[in-house]
Amino acid sequence: MAGPVYRACKQCNFLTEMDTCPRCGGQTSKEWQGFVAVIDFEKSEIAAKMGITANGRYALKVR
Ligand SMILES: [Zn+2]
Repeated sequence: MAGPVYRACKQCNFLTEMDTCPRCGGQTSKEWQGFVAVIDFEKSEIAAKMGITANGRYALKVR
């Protein structure tokens, strides 16, 4: 997955190609680092830590 194509939501860290997050409507940023793919958020410890409530790809850091 290439960084420049994807943008990360500043509110929920969701990765998307859009300017606005399709999950929460937040603004997205091209300035992000690392990501985690959540396949089963109900069983994922990192999803619980990050407050993730849906499967998908999430940036670890968003500026
Ligand atoms: Zn969002």
